Amino acid sequence: MILPIITYPNKLLKTLSCDVTDFSSALHQFLDDMHETMMASNGIGLAAIQVANPIRVLILCIPDEEGNQHKENLLEIINPEICTPRGNILYQEGCLSVPGFYEDIERFESLTLRYQNRHGEPCELHATDLLAIAIQHEIDHLEGKLFIEKLSYHRRKKFEKEYKKAQKDKK
Ligand SMILES: [Zn+2]
Repeated sequence: MILPIITYPNKLLKTLSCDVTDFSSALHQFLDDMHETMMASNGIGLAAIQVANPIRVLILCIPDEEGNQHKENLLEIINPEICTPRGNILYQEGCLSVPGFYEDIERFESLTLRYQNRHGEPCELHATDLLAIAIQHEIDHLEGKLFIEKLSYHRRKKFEKEYKKAQKDKK
């Protein structure tokens, strides 16, 4: 089932998401719905709060060199924790909850991630480049933060103006 994605300035996006303790079939169904929703929206990542569910769940599917997203590359990440972040990288980010807006954001270049899979089993992965960037972007959602909050005052003002105008033009 495709779930509705909430967009800025919906206040729910500021919610601090809670740890997952129940790894039952309800969670599995929710993860499947998140995947369907992300693919239908052409996203590479989605946090549960973006579909109005404040739990520490995110999914990612990084495209291959041809831009195709394969189900076997789907990562289901629950209760994530970043360890040993290293380096800096600048990348133009976008967000399904801030449609039509892209900005360069600075992130750690590499990191180790500890998390649980859909069965509650502990997992660990090492991420660099786009995967590392996407992980940090999605974990920010779980903390109630959006990438636009990382912009300088001047760029943030510019964003508010452009975004309001775009919302108005849509109506
Ligand atoms: Zn996002």
